Amino acid sequence: MSSERATAPGVGRVGPLLSARCTGCGKTSKKRTTEIVGDRSSGSFQHVCHSCHGVTWWNVLELVEADAGGGR
Ligand SMILES: [Zn+2]
Repeated sequence: MSSERATAPGVGRVGPLLSARCTGCGKTSKKRTTEIVGDRSSGSFQHVCHSCHGVTWWNVLELVEADAGGGR
């Protein structure tokens, strides 16, 4: 069970680096995800929030860095 698939919410090692705000506690942080709902510069995604102790929804504030290692 060590495949490279990382599609579960909260697994944020791939995808663009985003500055985002947790809808649960309002904390802002930089996260990586490929599971953005809507536009990647203004959409939302689910990610682990350490303040909320679980997976929450995050609103994208800014696209910090385009997809790294995507091999475009
Ligand atoms: Zn939170």
